[in-house]
Amino acid sequence: MDCIFCKIVTGEIPAKLLKETDHSISFLDAFPLAKGHILVIPKNHHQKIQDLTENENSDLFSLVHTMISKVDSISGSTLLAVHNGKDAGQEVPHVHVHLVPRSADDSAGAIHSMFNGTLKLSDSEIEEMYNKLKI
Ligand code: 5GP
Ligand code: ZN
Repeated sequence: MDCIFCKIVTGEIPAKLLKETDHSISFLDAFPLAKGHILVIPKNHHQKIQDLTENENSDLFSLVHTMISKVDSISGSTLLAVHNGKDAGQEVPHVHVHLVPRSADDSAGAIHSMFNGTLKLSDSEIEEMYNKLKI
């Protein structure tokens, strides 16, 4: 499989590895949006979070939990982001969690600034989504 992140896992592509666990690794993003921008990824190739096994999932987010305090110490605020699918902005089709230090004067805003505005949903649309998503 021609996947950049699989190649980082095998060492075929070099990376600044920060921490390795049974099922995950963390390393510096090569094109950082801020100083200290890192990625946490599963070792196995999966495109989406829901494709991970329970073990891989808990290992991945446990490593996110470990790394967040390190990253958060850089500026005191951190953006956590996952592009879960191509249309959500995922460029590398291997699950990865971004940890990006944020500061008041960086150029990024709140999640709402990524969209043109909020939606006005009708009661039936809200009900439809509620019924679709509740477990
Ligand atoms: P996406 O846009 O898929 O959510 O994020 C992919 C991330 O991978 C980007 O932040 C990009 O900078 C990073 N990236 C792409 N290629 C490489 C690479 O070869 N090495 C490392 N360390 N990061 C990479
Ligand atoms: Zn991969």
